[in-house]
Amino acid sequence: MHQILNFVDGRFVTPIEGRFLDNYGPRDGTVIGQLPDSSAADIDAAVKAARRAFPAWEGLTRGERARYLYRIADLIESRLEVFAEAESLDQGKPIHLARSVDIPRAIENFRFFAGAVLHQEEKAFQTSANVINYSRRQAVGVAGLISPWNLPLYLLTWKVAPALATGNTVVAKPSELTSFTASLLAEVIAEAGLPEGVCNFVYGLGSKAGDALVAHPDVPLISFTGGTETAAAIGKRAAPLYKKLSLELGGKNPALIFADCDFETALAATVRSSFTNQGEICLCTSRIFVEESLFERFKGAFVAAVKTLRVGDPRHEDSFMGALVSAAHREKVNGFVTRAREEGLALLCGGGVPELPSELKGGYYYNPTVLLAPDTNSEIMQQEVFGPVVTLTPFRDYDDAITKANSTRYGLAATIWTQNLDTAHRAAADVDAGLVWVNTWMLRDLRTPFGGMKDSGVGREGGNYSLDYYTEEKNICLQLSKPNS
Ligand code: NAD
Repeated sequence: MHQILNFVDGRFVTPIEGRFLDNYGPRDGTVIGQLPDSSAADIDAAVKAARRAFPAWEGLTRGERARYLYRIADLIESRLEVFAEAESLDQGKPIHLARSVDIPRAIENFRFFAGAVLHQEEKAFQTSANVINYSRRQAVGVAGLISPWNLPLYLLTWKVAPALATGNTVVAKPSELTSFTASLLAEVIAEAGLPEGVCNFVYGLGSKAGDALVAHPDVPLISFTGGTETAAAIGKRAAPLYKKLSLELGGKNPALIFADCDFETALAATVRSSFTNQGEICLCTSRIFVEESLFERFKGAFVAAVKTLRVGDPRHEDSFMGALVSAAHREKVNGFVTRAREEGLALLCGGGVPELPSELKGGYYYNPTVLLAPDTNSEIMQQEVFGPVVTLTPFRDYDDAITKANSTRYGLAATIWTQNLDTAHRAAADVDAGLVWVNTWMLRDLRTPFGGMKDSGVGREGGNYSLDYYTEEKNICLQLSKPNS
């Protein structure tokens, strides 16, 4: 049992009202620990601490702040296995994925943003011989960071690292479903000697602790990753307070598979892009569109490949998929599949719960599921499932492919599979997505703009986009008394 405590002003503390929530392990559905059910009072204490710490933290040189970030990265790396085990236990993902993707990326987030601030360039504009404009970037203040459950440490550190590197202090509210690795990060931060109050963690429900953070008048910036509906509620709270808002939201990501693609590469990558992390990555493919002439071949090979995917104990190295994050989420996923079948979509494979050994019976497993969707009207073609469920749909020609791909309110990510350079460029431009991968998937360069179009988000993070977001840019116009000679 792992008891999580809030981390406020450099100390591990019980929530002020003394309430805790049970934390269920997706592997077998048992209680694996407890986390604070924090209230507005806990958020307020953390914000006060972060405000006190702000002037001194902002006053450090960027080199001094970067050294703390490098130290945090080194400490996480030195206990990578402990972090990976916690992430897998808490989230349900296979341990090998946590070990090879989640935790290394969290380490990289700290190293990347430490390096980024060290190499950041600033702008100056020579207006005339004796006038210069230059811009100065300064930290915003207390950054409120709210993160989801699918890539818990990976996405939390994607916010914490740039916020700290640029001189903000932090109050973070991780997902109530997956707070375990955040609590290990708090231990690392304490050990790295970060000054008290610079980085605070307050755990609990979104509707309570999360809402209090968004509504707090002394938190001028909210960076949120989560669901599109939650973002609407956050926007309503934050807009009248004129907060800086970054919103990374849901998706309904299409894969466009043209007949001239490299078939084997497209097939293998689309299996991966659909079901990695149980389909619980915002960038996972959820709608697969295949050119008519290739459709039957692709469908046969795809379904055959999906049937071989091993769903099982997240602790086992050979499990491709572990368990979904919660009982409620599995209910939600299954509800989508049930209603899709009632709407007349054919189930090509999956649906329902796999046969597993008795010690895993209480876990939240779900079979990788493929449905045949003749058009884009059904609920499952419009709503985000965020689980191991994809649809297969044929398209006639280029225009039909783009129309179908763009037929949802979302615009996060898309993959395009073709060997024709013209088709690749055209489709990349025409598809509604903030992130387009051509002949690959989830290949990331942390300098690039990351974010969604339409209802998938507002703003971009990554590289200089994050450095910009976590700072206020001030223009200073300076006139010299005498022109330069
Ligand atoms: P969620 O919106 O339910 O919760 C996300 C976070 O917001 C949690 O910490 C939660 O406690 C908090 N929260 C909930 N209600 C709140 C409120 N009223 N005020 C303040 N905070 C509140 O999302 P989730 O179920 O944790 O995550 C899944 C969603 O996240 C999916 O839609 C997925 O696509 C999206 N996601 C997007 C990205 C991206 O980069 N675009 C990445 C990962 C996940």
